[in-house]
Amino acid sequence: RERAREILSSVRDRDDNRLGVEAMELLDAYGIETPAGEIVDSPARASEVAAGIDGDVVMKIVSPDVLHKSDIGGVAVGVADADVADTYEDLITRARNYQPDATILGVQVQEMVDLDDGVETIVGMNRDPQFGPLVMFGLGGIFVEVMEDTAFRVAPVSEPEAREMTEEIRSAPLLRGARGRDPVDVDAVIETIGRLSQLVTDFPAILELDINPLVALPDADGGTNVAAVDVRLTVD
Ligand code: ADP
Ligand code: MG
Repeated sequence: RERAREILSSVRDRDDNRLGVEAMELLDAYGIETPAGEIVDSPARASEVAAGIDGDVVMKIVSPDVLHKSDIGGVAVGVADADVADTYEDLITRARNYQPDATILGVQVQEMVDLDDGVETIVGMNRDPQFGPLVMFGLGGIFVEVMEDTAFRVAPVSEPEAREMTEEIRSAPLLRGARGRDPVDVDAVIETIGRLSQLVTDFPAILELDINPLVALPDADGGTNVAAVDVRLTVD
């Protein structure tokens, strides 16, 4: 909590109240698992970081002016180490083409998460003038946008409430294993909902927060079964 406070006060000094993946440490501080990664400011440094990560990496533009990174080609998935430096330049160019005066904080080099076995979910919070902090859970991608298949509870969200959220969405069977897929570790998802609820309860200055996607993975012995791959928030 102390670390979270430090991170939040350091970002308050910026003139922008919208934060992206540079706020991933905030999730770390609350025990929400994030893939290994780092934000770098040069192609050479990007290559160094990628060399320290097993397998291919994902690279993302980090800019408060780019809210939907993939919309502008700002996310490169499955980048081999040899291509990391060139991809760094490409991502910066795309951001500049999109908005010449964009503030660019750097490029995030991130470990790949296995989406084939995982289910992309969303965990978020919006402060409602009437109800207060509303915690949201749903499936990611087209499910959330097209199906409006989401569950809401007011924070602080108890464990039974978080479990209900994972059960009441229409697409809940996808979490429990459908079409021969392995079920994901729903308990890890429930725990993440609780941790996010705690974070936004402790810090009223967080007006909005979205983890999209939180990748839910099958139960692996001893392994990490959720990965917060992307985060966006607005602070007061
Ligand atoms: P944005 O939502 O701003 O476009 P994301 O960071 O969510 O950017 O990346 C877009 C998509 O790329 C994700 O929804 C996910 O499908 C994929 N992706 C992002 N990061 C990873 C990762 N570390 N491993 C695997 N896939 C990823
Ligand atoms: Mg996203």
